[in-house]
Amino acid sequence: MTMINEPAHTLPVLGEYDVAVAGGGPAGFAAAISAAREGAKTVIIEQTGMIGGIATAGLMSHWAGSAASSVLQELYKRSTVPDIVEKFPWQGTINPEKLKFVMFEMLHEANVHVLLYTFVSGAVKEGTTLKGLIIENKSGRQAVLAKTVIDATGDGDAAARAGAEFVKGREGDGKMQPVTIMFKVAGVDYSRAVFPGGFEANLDVPKGKIQDLSRQALPFPAGHTLLYPSSLPGIVTVNMTNFIGIDGTNADDLAKAEYECRKQMDPIVKFLRDTVPGFEQCFIISTASLLGVRETRHFVGEYTLNEDDILASRVFDDWVVLRAKFNFDIHNIDGPGLDKNGAQKHFPNVDGYSIPYRSLLPKTVDGLILAGRCISGTHKAHSNYRVMPICAAMGEAAGIAASIAAKEKIAPRKVGVKKIQDVLIARGVKP
Ligand SMILES: Cc1cc2nc3c(=O)[nH]c(=O)nc-3n(C[C@H](O)[C@H](O)[C@H](O)COP(=O)(O)OP(=O)(O)OC[C@H]3O[C@@H](n4cnc5c(N)ncnc54)[C@H](O)[C@@H]3O)c2cc1C
Repeated sequence: MTMINEPAHTLPVLGEYDVAVAGGGPAGFAAAISAAREGAKTVIIEQTGMIGGIATAGLMSHWAGSAASSVLQELYKRSTVPDIVEKFPWQGTINPEKLKFVMFEMLHEANVHVLLYTFVSGAVKEGTTLKGLIIENKSGRQAVLAKTVIDATGDGDAAARAGAEFVKGREGDGKMQPVTIMFKVAGVDYSRAVFPGGFEANLDVPKGKIQDLSRQALPFPAGHTLLYPSSLPGIVTVNMTNFIGIDGTNADDLAKAEYECRKQMDPIVKFLRDTVPGFEQCFIISTASLLGVRETRHFVGEYTLNEDDILASRVFDDWVVLRAKFNFDIHNIDGPGLDKNGAQKHFPNVDGYSIPYRSLLPKTVDGLILAGRCISGTHKAHSNYRVMPICAAMGEAAGIAASIAAKEKIAPRKVGVKKIQDVLIARGVKP
């Protein structure tokens, strides 16, 4: 690759904050709210035009799994009020249009400085300590300084720019889970519709078994049927585009995945019309504006959460997330369906597990806390904690930790974990 030298230049400092949160998905949103409610001067920096990440721009169907989090409970109450209830299934169903506003409103109420359409492109460092972020937006290139940075970009862009050590994907070969563009169809007859919500749901439809039929009819690597009811009449969320061999931190790969997933949409709609009861008249009404990337960087933290911790429902002394519950949701890395190491329906552990503060702390960079799907964990553990409620619970804890670090003028690594736990308990999290 040809290289050029970018001349050194002086940047304006947009502001000096106690806490700067990179990324406004479920983890970043909860982190910013949480820090601000503890009195920290907080900024959140998001590349899209909305808060919510995969939950909103990713057009997500529902909050899957659960974890103990007061911010999440409040968000559920405020955002999942039934709309025009046809078959309103449960509180976790997302109306992304409502969620976009409620998340923004909650940040506004908490006095968080919200920067949208703003990309975190670099790190301000002194020695091994992160002191702030370089950001780019319509206003130009600027710096934001902060006592603590929380990286909630999903991919860990801020941590990577700061030089924190990471691995990508699966141990051994670095392969990452497939990507998906979610979309919604309207015109579904709910009185006859079926909703296969997992790969192991090989439901009977008039022409045969639904997952077998999808494998035969859809263009590889698409080939499974995942359909989720919404809170709006006749509208269903479709999680069926599927593309493999993509690195979500590579710009060319992102464009390739967008193209390939969009190419699959018409064949998927044809399949739904031909095969699935109630979907005969369905048509696309919206597609996600943010590609659904399931897995990229796993940072090397002070503790790497693993699948045994999850299966044993281990409660760490330095827990900051409690009662995290989900299954090992590893999509097939080489095609459609579930990976042989994944377990959805028959997942053995239903007790819930904890996540230690150490898994949020990168080993080699100070002044930085990780939250969301980029924390320190194995490929298999990640497939479990990557769901949005668990990511939001991590964000809540990260925000509390960062606010304590600011108040006590100490590094996040030095924050007494008991203090984080005390705030969580005061907010209603029961140990
Ligand atoms: C297709 C798909 C289906 C899924 N289904 C479900 C489901 O049904 N239920 C469920 O609970 N979970 C589901 N998940 C998992 C879940 O959505 C994600 O793992 C979760 O959203 C991760 O939360 P996060 O906050 O870490 O990251 P994200 O939600 O990815 O949010 C990261 C945010 O950071 C922003 N960002 C990224 N880089 C930068 C940068 N450099 N500068 C500024 N901003 C940046 C992004 O725009 C985004 O808003 C699904 C995931 C995918 C991809």
